[in-house]
Amino acid sequence: MYGDCTLLHVDADGFFAGVEQALNPVLRGRPVVTGAERGIIAAASYEAKALGVTRGLQLHEARARCPELVVLPSDYEAYSLYSRRLFAILRRFTPRVEEYSIDEAFADLAGCGAALGLPLEEVAARLRRTVAAELGLTVSVGISLTKTLAKLCSRFRKPDGQTILRRDHLALLLRRTPVAKVWGVGPVSAAKLQARGIASALDFTAMSGADVHRLLHKPGYETWLELQGQRVFRLEQAPKTRYDSMMKGHTFVPPGSDPRLVFAEAAANLAAVFAKLRRYRHLARELGLCLRHADYSARAASAPLPAPTARDSEAAPVLRALFEALFTPGQPYRATLVWLGGLEPLNLRQGDLFEETPQRRQRERLAEVVDALNGRYGQGAVAPAALLDRRLKPRHARDAAPPRYAARLKGEGVRHLAIPRLTLPNPV
Ligand SMILES: [Mg+2]
Repeated sequence: MYGDCTLLHVDADGFFAGVEQALNPVLRGRPVVTGAERGIIAAASYEAKALGVTRGLQLHEARARCPELVVLPSDYEAYSLYSRRLFAILRRFTPRVEEYSIDEAFADLAGCGAALGLPLEEVAARLRRTVAAELGLTVSVGISLTKTLAKLCSRFRKPDGQTILRRDHLALLLRRTPVAKVWGVGPVSAAKLQARGIASALDFTAMSGADVHRLLHKPGYETWLELQGQRVFRLEQAPKTRYDSMMKGHTFVPPGSDPRLVFAEAAANLAAVFAKLRRYRHLARELGLCLRHADYSARAASAPLPAPTARDSEAAPVLRALFEALFTPGQPYRATLVWLGGLEPLNLRQGDLFEETPQRRQRERLAEVVDALNGRYGQGAVAPAALLDRRLKPRHARDAAPPRYAARLKGEGVRHLAIPRLTLPNPV
């Protein structure tokens, strides 16, 4: 029914701020931002954007531009719950959904058009209406021939817009799109193209395939094909099972310069990233640490681990060494980030059997028990003693549990908070 124009991209408008407004109707129509705990704006409502407040801006600058700004701390549990609800609504239209990020998804409508019996315009409109009515959020929708084109379309009319682009109208959109705005064209590629006088996405598609391949290699060539309506990027529906690297970072406010505190923060990230590593059944070969100063500059270093491992106890001495190399006494720090590199899936390492010693076996048993306890009682219920130094951090508003924790119903974990669904009058 739709021919090859079946790829849909949906993107929530100012998602985190939108969720806050959905949860608290008093905030509707007001300029709202999130990110109070970091001092930088993580998300801005469209009312805030209209006043010149954008993501990434420092809070004091934003307040100077917009004194009536409502500044909220991030509430990621609420955002992830709304994210799941958004994707569940999308799955009523088609089972073929790729959850691309917390507030963006691709879907393939092929085969479901006849079942729904709707024109594409009505599919997009009904999706937007349903999300608005059930979640109190606005989303923008694009439908076209490929993922790359659908993503351009969803951004074309924002917020609360929809754009459907069929093959015979491709040039209209591509002419108006700067090449740097195309999904997959990074700043380096954009600079190379601009140096050759390629300004719009349409100029880009007019290049020869051979030239594109020479200049930008395979990824650029694939984007070039997608822009012309040739499908290269498939929907990735399966949850990811193989990882090359993993990281955990945490910003603490106010910044601190006590080495015990900063190290404890890094150790907490180490514990968290290793818990994730074990959950996804991988081993790591390399450990990295980044310390971010209060002025946002940062120093980072990495080192190989003594052996591929999934046990934080074996990585702890390496973390200590990296920390000693990076930490400058007297400097205030605001964040630490720990990453693991050179990952490989656990099941590929038969050789591990031969490196087994009673001590390693004991430590593994300990890690299993700790993971099980943390899985049951919450991350951090059991943690290395080094983490106790996190108590050195001065108290901050974000440390207090949100009031709705207390309002949890029997049987609800923190992951299933009782957040009411709003039902609004039909907005369309
Ligand atoms: Mg968005």
